[in-house]
Amino acid sequence: MKTLKRIEVFLIRLFEPIERFCHFYLLLPFRVILSRIDPLARKIEGTRFKKILQVSIYPLFLVLTFVIGFKLVENGYTFRTFAGTVGMFLVFGLIFAPLERLIPFSKKWRDDKELPTDWFLFFGGKLWGDYLNKPLRLATIALVVQEISPEIGQGIWPSHLHPVIQVLLLLSINDFFRYWYHRWMHENEFMWRWHAVHHSSERLYWFNGTRSHPLEGLVSSFLWAIPFAYIQAPVEVIFVTGLLGRTIGRFQHTNMDLILGPFDYIFSSPKNHRYHHSKSHKIGHSNYGGDVIFWDILFGTFYLPKGEQPSDDIGIEEMPNYPKSFVGLMLAPFTYGRLKREAMEMEYDKSKIE
Ligand SMILES: [Zn+2]
Ligand SMILES: [Zn+2]
Repeated sequence: MKTLKRIEVFLIRLFEPIERFCHFYLLLPFRVILSRIDPLARKIEGTRFKKILQVSIYPLFLVLTFVIGFKLVENGYTFRTFAGTVGMFLVFGLIFAPLERLIPFSKKWRDDKELPTDWFLFFGGKLWGDYLNKPLRLATIALVVQEISPEIGQGIWPSHLHPVIQVLLLLSINDFFRYWYHRWMHENEFMWRWHAVHHSSERLYWFNGTRSHPLEGLVSSFLWAIPFAYIQAPVEVIFVTGLLGRTIGRFQHTNMDLILGPFDYIFSSPKNHRYHHSKSHKIGHSNYGGDVIFWDILFGTFYLPKGEQPSDDIGIEEMPNYPKSFVGLMLAPFTYGRLKREAMEMEYDKSKIE
């Protein structure tokens, strides 16, 4: 136990100055440039221009994802590379960061202190995902395919449907499994240890959908591989579905104040996902969908009260001591018991003072 604590202290001392350096110096020019948008944001307040932006950005991006995705397929791209993913996030950042400043949902969430930590989590998770989770998933698929007759799978997938319908179908099937896995992570305390890292964020913005513990996805890699081995969707459909998932994921966590209308009842949207990040478990145990939201509607976990806005006070209420640094977050599932004890002692001390 003492050794773990020593390793933790050593690693925190090593990484925290880098995170602080990135926050204060590396992000400084971006902070200055982005702050110039604030007067413009005040200027467009209440205008028709703002309303047009709020309504049109989401459907525009969905259409663009389909167009670009199928164009890439036409040109022979059917595989997401590491460089491609990094490039895609840079493009998203260049568009989303200024827009989040122009039409922010929460002014509090403009604070960028969590960004360097999220960079580390992104690259750590990506390396782990590409070199461990992915090969394990592919190996599981290969094993299952060997065991079943290929005709069974090929017979199941409706390749005759329009490609857009096939993408939406695959997205929905994928999210059915994701829904139950996500719900399990909230309802089971052992699983919550891993998923709490994602909910530790105190702000929602375009990039923090990638904030999660790399081990969180390990079990799901096996679980999802099995049904997908049976489905055997064409690789082109899988590729475009992956891109669409990325777009939905950026919007799901964005700080843009959008007006989505029916999309709030179809996709996992910024508005319904903000309730999922609520500090209160009573509200947060809802809207588990990662891409679509109709599984929540079907299984009774949908939460979107009419005429209300979600709070921007988010995080893990019962654990104010939850780590904020990269190393702290990486180790949090392993130090969960200690964190919980400390949090309960803090609560006890507080109640004594009161
Ligand atoms: Zn969650
Ligand atoms: Zn989230």
